[in-house]
Amino acid sequence: MSRSRARLLRGFALGLLLVLLVVAGALALRGRSTPDAPVTGGGLTRVAFFDVGQGLAVGIITADGHSLLYDTGDQVEAIDAVVLPFFHRYGVERLDYLVISHPDQDHIGELATVLERIPVSTYVDPAIESTNRAYLRGLRLVEQQGIPARRARRGDVLELGTRTRAEILWPRDPLITDGDGTVIDNDNSVVLRVTDGNVRILLTGDLEEEAEHALVELDRAALRADILQVAHHGSRSSSSAPFLDAVDGEDAIISVGADNRYGHPHPETVQRLRAAGLTISRTDVDGTVVVVSDGSGYHLEREEAAP
Ligand SMILES: [Zn+2]
Repeated sequence: MSRSRARLLRGFALGLLLVLLVVAGALALRGRSTPDAPVTGGGLTRVAFFDVGQGLAVGIITADGHSLLYDTGDQVEAIDAVVLPFFHRYGVERLDYLVISHPDQDHIGELATVLERIPVSTYVDPAIESTNRAYLRGLRLVEQQGIPARRARRGDVLELGTRTRAEILWPRDPLITDGDGTVIDNDNSVVLRVTDGNVRILLTGDLEEEAEHALVELDRAALRADILQVAHHGSRSSSSAPFLDAVDGEDAIISVGADNRYGHPHPETVQRLRAAGLTISRTDVDGTVVVVSDGSGYHLEREEAAP
């Protein structure tokens, strides 16, 4: 090969390398500005209390991309417009955990929808007998999809990456029953204490006073949390003063539908929350409320409810 030919080839190779570098740079820039690109990390964990009308759905995405959905609400529109976009926005295409607090319609109405729309690694619920059709349909899908199912009981832990974990504080055996020996749904709700570094969030489903009392008696220190999901949409039969005292929190979030027929949240409950020093957010007023935590502190971000 002549020297001039070699120089020409070298020049060509250098030129090609330059072109490749420019293209790669452009692609990297484009990737950064694409809204759908994964943007987890940044040291932030997000816990979204979704505006799903009358019902409950809470989504967690940790700083290192782990994910959990706690309940599904009962409106397919909310799954498509609010819940799934939250996960997709941060690059989550598979849920590590789908946790069902208890088999009531306003919590499991869209269980099947969620299972149809996004893959789930582990399914968790309190295994309470139920004839609810949406629940049974969801359970069939869990089985058909071969998703490992776990029965939630006090003492279990759901690991969510390096900084975050969800401890199951409730229910425990024997489950709470009424006079006839029938298992009560609300009082056997799965209670999760989510810990993200120093930030603690307590998720309580539709827990009521009897279970609250049992939890306080078992270990009141375990209930301490910065942020409380107010049980049973702010019903008067939940959020008893001794329970709120044990939680000793800063922020209370009530998931509730505007003008719901139950009158939730009940005024006396709102009063008890205020008396306990909690600042109240409501999904019917504030829209989706997101707790943004860096592991040592947190702030709330609000997304106004759609008119
Ligand atoms: Zn409920």
